[in-house]
Amino acid sequence: MSALIIDGKAVAREVREGVARSVAELRRPPGLATVLVGEDPASAIYVANKRKLCTAAGIRDLHRQVPADIAQGELEALVEELNGDEDVDGILVQLPLPDHLEARAVVDRIDPAKDVDGLTTFNAGLLAQGRQGLQPCTPAGVMLLLEQAGIDLAGKHAVVIGRSDLVGRPMAQLLTQANATVTVCHSRTKDLVAETSRADVLIAAAGVPRLIGADHVQPGATVIDVGIHRTDTGMCGDVDFDEVREVAGALTPVPGGVGPMTIALLLRNTVQAASRREEMSP
Ligand code: NAP
Repeated sequence: MSALIIDGKAVAREVREGVARSVAELRRPPGLATVLVGEDPASAIYVANKRKLCTAAGIRDLHRQVPADIAQGELEALVEELNGDEDVDGILVQLPLPDHLEARAVVDRIDPAKDVDGLTTFNAGLLAQGRQGLQPCTPAGVMLLLEQAGIDLAGKHAVVIGRSDLVGRPMAQLLTQANATVTVCHSRTKDLVAETSRADVLIAAAGVPRLIGADHVQPGATVIDVGIHRTDTGMCGDVDFDEVREVAGALTPVPGGVGPMTIALLLRNTVQAASRREEMSP
């Protein structure tokens, strides 16, 4: 039996339409400041997509482009300037940064109330404690996809492959909050197949093309592929789509699965940040 293909594009479109409706209800349109350091082509494409969809949803595009050789202090000063700018509701510093810059120090300069990527230590701490804050876009998008696909996580065994600050770690925390029993796998996991083949819900975020084949997957499991890889034969994920679709109960494609959700959740976080700031201001 072939798996149900979870349509991330359609769910992301719904989220963006909801964002546009929320924007219209605010006193003024929210502003998102994307910060792009240098001209890395992949980062430039990601930022251009974010800006295009943000404008389409009625969010003001307050983009800042800075040269690749910007000094650490100058970049941190720019973040401080955006923190103090009343027009800016959300700040996103596109990662990775050039090698001479320390990303953690830059990200932690962002006012947690404007941290629409959910990556500051402050917001990561709130998430770790199960408290309300701005959540990282990719794992939050995965949670929404699971909800929209009608997957009830309570009591399920979820396996997350990856433990990065961006995806794996917050993913495991969100699944735990949704009452799943969570196993986290990483590069030192001894027997990956033994772990993943017990999963009711498998989240692949290892960054290794087609790492997950049919033998990694329990028949009927839900498989979410976070990986994105550009290969000579086109795009693929961490999951071997053709093999796994014959075993899984539901599966996200690449492209068209998690990727569109990440941007949609960025827009939603921007509106959330703007409405919080509006509530706080007289
Ligand atoms: P990352 O920082 O490189 O982390 C990868 C994680 O996977 C690490 O925890 C690593 O373990 C683990 N890992 C690596 N090889 C493994 C293996 N063979 N078996 C088991 N675990 C393994 O990557 P990331 O930023 O989390 O991103 C992961 C993937 O998602 C990438 O392909 C990235 O492009 C993609 N991504 C997609 C979106 C989207 O919007 N769809 C957003 C963000 C990222 P260690 O901790 O032991 O090193």
